Amino acid sequence: MTKYKVVYDRANCTGVAACTIVAEKFWQMDSDDKADLVGATLTGNDIWEREIDENDLPKNQEAARSCPVKVIKIFDEANKEVL
Ligand code: SF4
Repeated sequence: MTKYKVVYDRANCTGVAACTIVAEKFWQMDSDDKADLVGATLTGNDIWEREIDENDLPKNQEAARSCPVKVIKIFDEANKEVL
């Protein structure tokens, strides 16, 4: 099964919550009014990453597209961004 990587720049989340509405299994609001990517690992300066498989790609793509500040990115196994 194809794997994808979701990369989330949490520092620049503006708390619009659109991602949590379209993909609540993966995106949840925290008490600081920023979204958390469920199951993600901190890999940089408030950069969070997690792997998803192809079944979960559409929902996360919807979340990425819904984000007005584009802080959610998804990459395929060749490290190419999947929009
Ligand atoms: S849609 Fe973007 S800005 Fe809004 S809560 Fe989600 S990640 Fe943050």
